[in-house]
Amino acid sequence: MKEYQFGTSGALEAVGPIIGYSRSCLSTSLYLEKHKLLLDVGPLSCYIKGSVDATKVLITHLHHDHWSGLISLLGLKKCRDKFDPVRIYSPRGTISFLKSLLSELRYKRALSIDLTTESESIDNVENRIPIVLHSLEANRSIETRDGLVIEAFNATHRCESLAFKLDIQGRKEEEGTRLLTYTGDTNVEALLDEDILSSQVLITECTYLEPEKTEEAEERGHMSLGNVVGVESNFKGDCILLVHFKANYTDEEINKSISSYTYSRVTPKAICTKISDAE
Ligand SMILES: [Zn+2]
Ligand SMILES: [Zn+2]
Repeated sequence: MKEYQFGTSGALEAVGPIIGYSRSCLSTSLYLEKHKLLLDVGPLSCYIKGSVDATKVLITHLHHDHWSGLISLLGLKKCRDKFDPVRIYSPRGTISFLKSLLSELRYKRALSIDLTTESESIDNVENRIPIVLHSLEANRSIETRDGLVIEAFNATHRCESLAFKLDIQGRKEEEGTRLLTYTGDTNVEALLDEDILSSQVLITECTYLEPEKTEEAEERGHMSLGNVVGVESNFKGDCILLVHFKANYTDEEINKSISSYTYSRVTPKAICTKISDAE
């Protein structure tokens, strides 16, 4: 998988490199190696270089392509002797499911983990990975122990789904802008917000390329390229990164469609479209 390094100064330096893979229905997982943070944990997340070192996992919703790599990731961590605590941030309504699944796997000795919730203290037991489950709600923010601020907001999708605004503690107050927004799966409604449109880096889904699919996208809680083009002129940040394209589009088709539009501020860029390094 290719590494995307966007810049070496200011906000882009603060985000650092992004590496991952994202295609609708297959897998979505983006690794921000500088922050040891996985944005979603789809089934192919283990293949992302460095992802075994992730200490924070953000889950937007429970569609399989966004979370089902979690078990493999935890299994791989054990195989690689990575026993640092892992904090999982997920929508409130998903926590009981994740808790019972992980508890059962622990009970059956299928995973070497210890499970706690955010209010309990973590015990480091030899050869077990401490897992902390954090429940997220829309319009509330949470600070991680290593200085990230995660603010959740509602996405418009087919199941309970949150999108995230991310920042480094104190940075927004200094810079006056949001560092990064990651929408997960959503229709365009989630983007119609001044704060999101002024994020330096906006990572959003773009499931469909064809303009005639815009209505279908809307109904299914997704976006088309037409939707992205529609909000681009109001975007005030540095880059718009598109993920979650349908698997049947080639990179050539994606890039050709993107460049067929005229943009007033920034040309969106498709990222994490391929598993192979050979790009
Ligand atoms: Zn999806
Ligand atoms: Zn979904």
